[in-house]
Amino acid sequence: MQDIVIATIGSHSALQILKGAKDEGFKTLAICKKGTERIYDSRGYGVADDIISVDHFEDWNDSIEQELMKRNAIIIPHGSFIAYMGHDRVRSMKAMYYGTKEILEWESDRTMERQWMEKSGLKLPRVFTDPNEIEKPVIVKFHGAGGGFGYFVAKSPEQFWEVKNRKYPDNNDYAIQEYIVGVPIYAHYFQSSLTGEIEILSFDKRYESNADSIGRIKAEDQLAANIHTSYTIVGNIPVVVRESLLPKFFEMGENVVQTSKEVTGSDKGLFGPFCLECIVTRKLEIYCFEISARIVAGTNPFVEGSPYTALKYDVPMSTGRRIAREIKQAIEAGRLEEVLG
Ligand code: ATP
Repeated sequence: MQDIVIATIGSHSALQILKGAKDEGFKTLAICKKGTERIYDSRGYGVADDIISVDHFEDWNDSIEQELMKRNAIIIPHGSFIAYMGHDRVRSMKAMYYGTKEILEWESDRTMERQWMEKSGLKLPRVFTDPNEIEKPVIVKFHGAGGGFGYFVAKSPEQFWEVKNRKYPDNNDYAIQEYIVGVPIYAHYFQSSLTGEIEILSFDKRYESNADSIGRIKAEDQLAANIHTSYTIVGNIPVVVRESLLPKFFEMGENVVQTSKEVTGSDKGLFGPFCLECIVTRKLEIYCFEISARIVAGTNPFVEGSPYTALKYDVPMSTGRRIAREIKQAIEAGRLEEVLG
Protein backbone atom coordinates (compact mmCIF):
# COMPACT_ATOMS: atom_id res chain seq x y z
CA MET A 1 0.00 0.00 0.00
CA GLN A 2 2.76 2.40 0.93
CA ASP A 3 4.23 2.13 -2.57
CA ILE A 4 1.00 2.77 -4.45
CA VAL A 5 -0.33 6.19 -5.43
CA ILE A 6 -3.94 6.75 -6.49
CA ALA A 7 -4.02 9.17 -9.43
CA THR A 8 -6.62 10.84 -11.59
CA ILE A 9 -7.14 13.87 -13.80
CA GLY A 10 -8.22 16.94 -11.83
CA SER A 11 -11.82 17.29 -13.01
CA HIS A 12 -15.28 15.58 -12.88
CA SER A 13 -15.21 13.48 -9.67
CA ALA A 14 -11.52 13.80 -8.78
CA LEU A 15 -12.22 15.43 -5.41
CA GLN A 16 -14.09 12.43 -4.00
CA ILE A 17 -11.79 9.90 -5.72
CA LEU A 18 -8.71 11.45 -4.11
CA LYS A 19 -10.40 12.12 -0.77
CA GLY A 20 -11.64 8.52 -0.70
CA ALA A 21 -8.15 7.25 -1.49
CA LYS A 22 -6.66 9.30 1.36
CA ASP A 23 -9.34 8.02 3.74
CA GLU A 24 -8.28 4.48 2.87
CA GLY A 25 -4.62 5.33 3.52
CA PHE A 26 -3.24 5.88 0.01
CA LYS A 27 -1.00 8.66 -1.26
CA THR A 28 -2.70 10.68 -3.99
CA LEU A 29 -1.77 12.49 -7.19
CA ALA A 30 -3.81 14.85 -9.38
CA ILE A 31 -2.88 15.58 -12.99
CA CYS A 32 -4.14 19.13 -13.42
CA LYS A 33 -4.59 21.59 -16.22
CA LYS A 34 -2.44 24.63 -15.39
CA GLY A 35 -4.46 27.07 -13.30
CA THR A 36 -6.72 24.46 -11.68
CA GLU A 37 -4.18 23.01 -9.23
CA ARG A 38 -5.41 25.00 -6.25
CA ILE A 39 -8.67 23.08 -6.11
CA TYR A 40 -6.80 19.87 -5.36
CA ASP A 41 -3.73 20.98 -3.38
CA SER A 42 -3.52 22.43 0.10
CA ARG A 43 -4.76 25.85 -1.07
CA GLY A 44 -8.12 24.27 -1.95
CA TYR A 45 -9.49 20.97 -0.61
CA GLY A 46 -6.13 19.34 0.07
CA VAL A 47 -7.02 15.98 -1.47
CA ALA A 48 -3.87 15.63 -3.60
CA ASP A 49 -0.49 14.98 -2.01
CA ASP A 50 1.17 15.67 -5.34
CA ILE A 51 0.29 17.47 -8.54
CA ILE A 52 1.51 17.06 -12.12
CA SER A 53 0.60 20.16 -14.16
CA VAL A 54 -0.06 20.00 -17.91
CA ASP A 55 -1.05 22.66 -20.45
CA HIS A 56 -3.80 20.51 -21.96
CA PHE A 57 -5.04 17.03 -21.07
CA GLU A 58 -5.01 16.23 -24.76
CA ASP A 59 -1.20 16.61 -24.64
CA TRP A 60 -0.98 13.48 -22.49
CA ASN A 61 2.25 11.86 -23.65
CA ASP A 62 4.70 9.12 -22.89
CA SER A 63 6.60 11.20 -20.38
CA ILE A 64 3.48 11.65 -18.22
CA GLU A 65 2.84 7.95 -18.39
CA GLN A 66 6.45 7.15 -17.57
CA GLU A 67 6.18 9.44 -14.57
CA LEU A 68 3.01 7.68 -13.41
CA MET A 69 4.67 4.31 -13.79
CA LYS A 70 7.73 5.49 -11.89
CA ARG A 71 5.48 6.55 -9.04
CA ASN A 72 3.50 3.26 -9.04
CA ALA A 73 0.32 5.18 -9.75
CA ILE A 74 -3.02 3.49 -10.33
CA ILE A 75 -5.16 5.70 -12.55
CA ILE A 76 -8.84 5.96 -11.73
CA PRO A 77 -10.79 6.81 -14.89
CA HIS A 78 -13.77 9.15 -14.77
CA GLY A 79 -15.99 10.73 -17.43
CA SER A 80 -13.66 13.63 -18.23
CA PHE A 81 -10.62 11.35 -18.25
CA ILE A 82 -12.15 9.18 -20.97
CA ALA A 83 -13.40 12.22 -22.90
CA TYR A 84 -9.97 13.92 -22.88
CA MET A 85 -7.94 10.80 -23.55
CA GLY A 86 -10.15 9.05 -26.09
CA HIS A 87 -10.80 5.32 -25.99
CA ASP A 88 -7.86 4.29 -28.14
CA ARG A 89 -5.29 6.00 -25.97
CA VAL A 90 -6.89 4.61 -22.82
CA ARG A 91 -6.73 1.10 -24.25
CA SER A 92 -3.05 1.41 -25.09
CA MET A 93 -2.04 2.94 -21.75
CA LYS A 94 0.65 0.99 -19.96
CA ALA A 95 0.31 2.62 -16.55
CA MET A 96 -1.86 0.77 -14.01
CA TYR A 97 -5.54 1.47 -14.71
CA TYR A 98 -8.51 0.60 -12.47
CA GLY A 99 -11.39 -0.99 -14.39
CA THR A 100 -12.10 -3.00 -17.53
CA LYS A 101 -10.74 -1.76 -20.82
CA GLU A 102 -12.61 -4.40 -22.85
CA ILE A 103 -15.93 -2.79 -22.05
CA LEU A 104 -14.95 0.64 -23.40
CA GLU A 105 -15.80 -0.15 -27.01
CA TRP A 106 -19.16 -1.62 -25.97
CA GLU A 107 -19.97 1.55 -24.17
CA SER A 108 -18.68 4.05 -26.72
CA ASP A 109 -20.27 2.53 -29.83
CA ARG A 110 -24.00 3.25 -29.83
CA THR A 111 -24.97 0.10 -31.71
CA MET A 112 -22.86 -2.14 -29.48
CA GLU A 113 -24.12 -0.42 -26.35
CA ARG A 114 -27.71 -1.00 -27.44
CA GLN A 115 -26.99 -4.69 -28.10
CA TRP A 116 -25.51 -4.97 -24.60
CA MET A 117 -28.53 -3.25 -23.07
CA GLU A 118 -31.02 -5.34 -25.09
CA LYS A 119 -29.28 -8.58 -24.14
CA SER A 120 -29.45 -7.47 -20.51
CA GLY A 121 -33.23 -7.35 -20.77
CA LEU A 122 -33.45 -3.61 -20.07
CA LYS A 123 -36.45 -1.65 -21.26
CA LEU A 124 -35.14 0.74 -23.91
CA PRO A 125 -36.55 3.83 -25.66
CA ARG A 126 -37.37 3.16 -29.29
CA VAL A 127 -34.73 4.38 -31.76
CA PHE A 128 -35.61 6.13 -35.05
CA THR A 129 -32.94 5.57 -37.69
CA ASP A 130 -34.74 7.76 -40.25
CA PRO A 131 -35.78 11.27 -39.09
CA ASN A 132 -38.65 11.18 -41.58
CA GLU A 133 -40.25 8.39 -39.55
CA ILE A 134 -40.61 10.51 -36.41
CA GLU A 135 -44.25 10.15 -35.31
CA LYS A 136 -44.02 10.93 -31.59
CA PRO A 137 -41.87 13.17 -29.38
CA VAL A 138 -38.20 12.28 -29.71
CA ILE A 139 -34.95 13.47 -28.17
CA VAL A 140 -32.10 14.11 -30.60
CA LYS A 141 -28.62 13.48 -29.24
CA PHE A 142 -25.37 14.44 -30.90
CA HIS A 143 -22.57 11.98 -30.43
CA GLY A 144 -19.77 13.05 -28.16
CA ALA A 145 -21.81 16.03 -26.96
CA GLY A 146 -20.82 15.63 -23.33
CA GLY A 147 -23.19 16.98 -20.74
CA GLY A 148 -26.28 17.09 -22.93
CA PHE A 149 -25.03 20.02 -25.09
CA GLY A 150 -27.14 20.60 -28.18
CA TYR A 151 -29.75 17.91 -27.45
CA PHE A 152 -33.21 18.90 -28.62
CA VAL A 153 -36.74 17.60 -28.64
CA ALA A 154 -38.91 17.29 -31.78
CA LYS A 155 -42.26 15.71 -32.48
CA SER A 156 -42.33 15.53 -36.27
CA PRO A 157 -39.89 15.25 -39.20
CA GLU A 158 -40.60 18.93 -40.02
CA GLN A 159 -39.67 20.04 -36.53
CA PHE A 160 -36.57 17.88 -36.57
CA TRP A 161 -35.30 19.29 -39.89
CA GLU A 162 -36.14 22.84 -38.91
CA VAL A 163 -33.88 22.70 -35.82
CA LYS A 164 -31.26 20.44 -37.37
CA ASN A 165 -30.79 22.56 -40.51
CA ARG A 166 -30.88 25.86 -38.69
CA LYS A 167 -28.62 25.01 -35.76
CA TYR A 168 -26.53 21.97 -36.73
CA PRO A 169 -26.40 21.90 -40.55
CA ASP A 170 -23.05 20.08 -40.66
CA ASN A 171 -23.42 17.65 -37.80
CA ASN A 172 -24.86 14.34 -38.96
CA ASP A 173 -23.65 12.20 -36.11
CA TYR A 174 -26.79 12.01 -34.01
CA ALA A 175 -29.18 9.47 -32.53
CA ILE A 176 -32.94 9.91 -32.35
CA GLN A 177 -34.68 8.28 -29.40
CA GLU A 178 -38.29 8.16 -28.36
CA TYR A 179 -38.76 10.79 -25.63
CA ILE A 180 -39.82 8.93 -22.48
CA VAL A 181 -42.09 11.00 -20.27
CA GLY A 182 -41.06 10.43 -16.68
CA VAL A 183 -38.43 11.42 -14.17
CA PRO A 184 -34.74 10.85 -14.79
CA ILE A 185 -33.09 8.60 -12.21
CA TYR A 186 -29.41 7.72 -12.41
CA ALA A 187 -28.52 4.58 -10.44
CA HIS A 188 -24.95 4.31 -9.17
CA TYR A 189 -23.64 0.77 -8.77
CA PHE A 190 -20.46 -0.86 -7.59
CA GLN A 191 -19.55 -4.36 -8.75
CA SER A 192 -16.80 -5.90 -6.66
CA SER A 193 -14.45 -8.14 -8.60
CA LEU A 194 -13.16 -9.54 -5.32
CA THR A 195 -16.46 -10.71 -3.83
CA GLY A 196 -18.60 -10.84 -6.98
CA GLU A 197 -21.22 -8.74 -5.15
CA ILE A 198 -23.13 -5.83 -6.56
CA GLU A 199 -24.02 -2.76 -4.48
CA ILE A 200 -26.22 0.23 -5.14
CA LEU A 201 -24.36 3.15 -3.63
CA SER A 202 -26.68 6.03 -4.50
CA PHE A 203 -29.03 7.67 -7.01
CA ASP A 204 -29.13 11.17 -8.44
CA LYS A 205 -31.04 13.29 -10.86
CA ARG A 206 -29.49 16.00 -12.93
CA TYR A 207 -29.98 19.70 -12.72
CA GLU A 208 -30.18 20.84 -16.32
CA SER A 209 -30.45 24.17 -18.06
CA ASN A 210 -32.98 24.97 -19.24
CA ALA A 211 -35.10 21.80 -18.86
CA ASP A 212 -35.28 22.37 -15.10
CA SER A 213 -36.29 26.00 -15.36
CA ILE A 214 -38.98 25.91 -17.99
CA GLY A 215 -41.68 25.11 -15.45
CA ARG A 216 -40.96 28.49 -13.87
CA ILE A 217 -42.43 30.28 -16.85
CA LYS A 218 -46.08 30.22 -17.92
CA ALA A 219 -46.71 28.11 -21.04
CA GLU A 220 -47.86 31.13 -22.98
CA ASP A 221 -44.65 33.01 -22.09
CA GLN A 222 -42.59 30.02 -23.16
CA LEU A 223 -44.29 30.10 -26.53
CA ALA A 224 -43.88 33.85 -26.83
CA ALA A 225 -40.17 33.57 -26.02
CA ASN A 226 -39.79 30.63 -28.44
CA ILE A 227 -37.78 28.62 -25.90
CA HIS A 228 -36.35 25.27 -27.00
CA THR A 229 -35.78 22.77 -24.20
CA SER A 230 -32.10 22.07 -23.66
CA TYR A 231 -30.35 19.61 -21.35
CA THR A 232 -27.00 21.15 -20.49
CA ILE A 233 -25.96 19.65 -17.18
CA VAL A 234 -25.13 22.15 -14.45
CA GLY A 235 -25.16 19.98 -11.31
CA ASN A 236 -26.50 16.85 -9.63
CA ILE A 237 -29.20 16.38 -7.01
CA PRO A 238 -29.38 13.38 -4.62
CA VAL A 239 -32.41 11.12 -4.88
CA VAL A 240 -33.78 8.32 -2.72
CA VAL A 241 -36.09 6.03 -4.70
CA ARG A 242 -39.25 4.29 -3.53
CA GLU A 243 -38.05 1.26 -1.64
CA SER A 244 -40.21 -1.02 -3.78
CA LEU A 245 -38.16 -0.05 -6.85
CA LEU A 246 -34.90 -1.33 -5.36
CA PRO A 247 -35.26 -5.02 -6.28
CA LYS A 248 -35.75 -4.05 -9.93
CA PHE A 249 -32.72 -1.75 -9.90
CA PHE A 250 -30.59 -4.53 -8.37
CA GLU A 251 -31.80 -6.99 -10.99
CA MET A 252 -31.01 -4.55 -13.82
CA GLY A 253 -27.47 -3.99 -12.52
CA GLU A 254 -26.83 -7.71 -12.11
CA ASN A 255 -28.03 -8.42 -15.64
CA VAL A 256 -25.84 -5.69 -17.11
CA VAL A 257 -22.77 -7.12 -15.34
CA GLN A 258 -23.59 -10.70 -16.37
CA THR A 259 -24.16 -9.69 -20.00
CA SER A 260 -20.92 -7.67 -20.04
CA LYS A 261 -19.05 -10.94 -19.49
CA GLU A 262 -20.88 -12.57 -22.37
CA VAL A 263 -20.38 -9.73 -24.85
CA THR A 264 -16.70 -9.19 -24.07
CA GLY A 265 -16.02 -12.91 -23.78
CA SER A 266 -14.04 -12.23 -20.61
CA ASP A 267 -14.58 -13.45 -17.06
CA LYS A 268 -13.84 -10.00 -15.73
CA GLY A 269 -16.66 -8.18 -17.52
CA LEU A 270 -17.79 -4.85 -16.12
CA PHE A 271 -16.59 -4.15 -12.61
CA GLY A 272 -16.11 -1.23 -10.25
CA PRO A 273 -18.47 1.74 -10.36
CA PHE A 274 -21.00 2.11 -13.16
CA CYS A 275 -24.26 3.90 -13.75
CA LEU A 276 -27.56 3.08 -15.42
CA GLU A 277 -29.17 6.25 -16.71
CA CYS A 278 -32.91 5.76 -16.56
CA ILE A 279 -36.29 7.42 -16.88
CA VAL A 280 -39.07 6.14 -14.59
CA THR A 281 -42.57 6.62 -15.96
CA ARG A 282 -45.85 7.23 -14.11
CA LYS A 283 -46.53 3.48 -14.42
CA LEU A 284 -43.19 2.91 -12.65
CA GLU A 285 -41.64 1.39 -15.74
CA ILE A 286 -37.88 1.89 -15.76
CA TYR A 287 -36.46 2.76 -19.17
CA CYS A 288 -32.69 2.78 -19.47
CA PHE A 289 -31.13 4.98 -22.12
CA GLU A 290 -27.42 4.69 -21.32
CA ILE A 291 -24.77 2.76 -19.40
CA SER A 292 -21.76 4.64 -18.05
CA ALA A 293 -19.07 2.09 -17.31
CA ARG A 294 -17.28 4.15 -14.67
CA ILE A 295 -17.80 6.60 -11.84
CA VAL A 296 -20.31 9.30 -12.82
CA ALA A 297 -20.43 12.88 -11.53
CA GLY A 298 -23.86 12.13 -10.07
CA THR A 299 -22.05 10.41 -7.18
CA ASN A 300 -20.43 13.74 -6.17
CA PRO A 301 -23.14 14.76 -3.67
CA PHE A 302 -22.21 11.69 -1.63
CA VAL A 303 -18.67 12.48 -0.44
CA GLU A 304 -19.98 11.72 3.05
CA GLY A 305 -21.82 8.62 1.85
CA SER A 306 -25.49 8.18 0.92
CA PRO A 307 -28.53 6.82 2.77
CA TYR A 308 -27.75 3.48 1.07
CA THR A 309 -24.07 3.31 2.00
CA ALA A 310 -24.99 4.32 5.56
CA LEU A 311 -27.00 1.08 5.75
CA LYS A 312 -24.03 -1.03 4.77
CA TYR A 313 -20.89 0.72 6.00
CA ASP A 314 -19.91 2.13 9.35
CA VAL A 315 -17.79 4.89 7.79
CA PRO A 316 -18.87 7.54 5.25
CA MET A 317 -18.51 5.63 1.97
CA SER A 318 -18.38 7.64 -1.24
CA THR A 319 -17.98 5.90 -4.59
CA GLY A 320 -14.40 7.25 -4.65
CA ARG A 321 -13.68 5.66 -1.29
CA ARG A 322 -15.35 2.41 -2.36
CA ILE A 323 -12.93 2.21 -5.29
CA ALA A 324 -9.94 2.82 -3.00
CA ARG A 325 -11.17 0.21 -0.54
CA GLU A 326 -11.48 -2.35 -3.33
CA ILE A 327 -7.91 -1.63 -4.45
CA LYS A 328 -6.68 -1.82 -0.86
CA GLN A 329 -8.39 -5.17 -0.30
CA ALA A 330 -7.04 -6.44 -3.62
CA ILE A 331 -3.50 -5.48 -2.59
CA GLU A 332 -3.90 -7.10 0.82
CA ALA A 333 -5.20 -10.30 -0.78
CA GLY A 334 -2.46 -10.33 -3.44
CA ARG A 335 -5.14 -9.92 -6.14
CA LEU A 336 -4.32 -6.48 -7.51
CA GLU A 337 -4.18 -7.74 -11.09
CA GLU A 338 -7.84 -8.68 -10.93
CA VAL A 339 -8.92 -5.08 -10.55
CA LEU A 340 -6.61 -3.61 -13.19
CA GLY A 341 -7.60 -3.29 -16.85
P1 ATP B 1 -23.57 11.35 -20.62
O1 ATP B 1 -24.26 10.70 -19.47
O2 ATP B 1 -22.89 10.37 -21.51
O3 ATP B 1 -22.75 12.54 -20.23
P2 ATP B 1 -25.24 13.32 -21.74
O4 ATP B 1 -25.08 14.18 -20.56
O5 ATP B 1 -24.65 13.77 -22.98
O6 ATP B 1 -24.76 11.87 -21.50
P3 ATP B 1 -27.80 12.05 -21.50
O7 ATP B 1 -27.48 11.60 -20.15
O8 ATP B 1 -27.84 11.03 -22.58
O9 ATP B 1 -26.79 13.18 -21.95
O10 ATP B 1 -29.16 12.83 -21.49
C1 ATP B 1 -29.31 14.22 -21.19
C2 ATP B 1 -30.73 14.51 -20.73
O11 ATP B 1 -31.68 14.00 -21.62
C3 ATP B 1 -31.09 13.89 -19.37
O12 ATP B 1 -31.88 14.80 -18.65
C4 ATP B 1 -31.95 12.72 -19.68
O13 ATP B 1 -32.84 12.50 -18.65
C5 ATP B 1 -32.62 13.19 -20.94
N1 ATP B 1 -32.91 12.03 -21.78
C6 ATP B 1 -32.01 11.28 -22.42
N2 ATP B 1 -32.63 10.31 -23.14
C7 ATP B 1 -33.94 10.46 -22.93
C8 ATP B 1 -35.11 9.78 -23.41
N3 ATP B 1 -35.03 8.76 -24.24
N4 ATP B 1 -36.32 10.24 -23.01
C9 ATP B 1 -36.41 11.32 -22.18
N5 ATP B 1 -35.36 12.00 -21.72
C10 ATP B 1 -34.14 11.58 -22.07
